[in-house]
Amino acid sequence: MQHAYQLGSGWYSEKTPGKRPRAQLGRLAAVKAYYSDHFVLPLPAGHRFPMHKYSLLRDRVREHLPAIELCEAPAARDGELALVHDPVYVTAVAEGLLSPAQQREIGFPWSPAMAERARRSVGGTIAAARTALREGVSAQLAGGTHHAYAGKGSGFCVFNDVAVAARLMQAEWHRLKPGALLRVLVIDLDVHQGNGTASIFARDDTVYTLSLHGARNFPFRKEPSDLDVELPDGCEDQAYLQALDGALEQVWAAHAGAWPGLAFFVAGADPHEGDRLGRLKLTREGLAERDRRVLNACGQRGIAVAVSMAGGYGHEIARTVDVHQQTLAECLRHWQAVEHRAGRSSQAGAY
Ligand SMILES: [Zn+2]
Repeated sequence: MQHAYQLGSGWYSEKTPGKRPRAQLGRLAAVKAYYSDHFVLPLPAGHRFPMHKYSLLRDRVREHLPAIELCEAPAARDGELALVHDPVYVTAVAEGLLSPAQQREIGFPWSPAMAERARRSVGGTIAAARTALREGVSAQLAGGTHHAYAGKGSGFCVFNDVAVAARLMQAEWHRLKPGALLRVLVIDLDVHQGNGTASIFARDDTVYTLSLHGARNFPFRKEPSDLDVELPDGCEDQAYLQALDGALEQVWAAHAGAWPGLAFFVAGADPHEGDRLGRLKLTREGLAERDRRVLNACGQRGIAVAVSMAGGYGHEIARTVDVHQQTLAECLRHWQAVEHRAGRSSQAGAY
């Protein structure tokens, strides 16, 4: 079976005159991670959303993971958002027409900066997905806004970044490879259920949704994913990793050898034991093992992976940033393995 990212490389080198195959790029090559933390949303004092987490994470990457290339996330356009979202809702966000009730459900007051940040959050995941299809793996330093439905936002999520990026990648794939279908897998390991994503793809068998989440956590009305795994409060590393292994086995069995071309890994830091909202008890080491297992399982099957950071609300925000940072370090390790398997010499160096 051909690897997705090999398909990706061929896609660019065959179809885009002037673009050189990645193997010739040499020293310019590195894992790309998309950021949008400079689009800050003004929040009232005492608001529980950790807005500064994102700039702290970018500082950490710059300092400790120099082999990761930081790229500014583009803004998603109305037409891209409308692949998933009701155009009336897209307009309401863009033009400040959200009702007070809609704003309360999202958890953010509307402002032009709120609308711009929401577009950038989707744009970062689109860019990461496009890059992953070409290079095997890419990340975005925000995103994972999985509580957003087609017609409404919820739980700090305005638009559903993964859903929009999935539909757009399928459309681009189909256009460049007429007749080809890009199957997509969503591996949602944020501690909260991916209810918006499950709802959007409920009747779409080209996108498989897996969610591992706290049974007693938000959202209290869950939507059926293709596979939901509910975890009890206080769940620790060993039980979590066992549940993850079992879930991934079911995912692969459901695909019967016809692997998806692209996976979105929603790598929430909120299952961590130091999280204010998570209710689970995973250690930092347990979460690193989670990340390795997901990336290795996708890598072994040649599935490109776009990683979003998603939730993380630590009592100490620095501990949350530690978890996100190690997810990015695992992405880098994975990318180096992909490069190695593809017979290219990685120029990225140590991290
Ligand atoms: Zn979460």
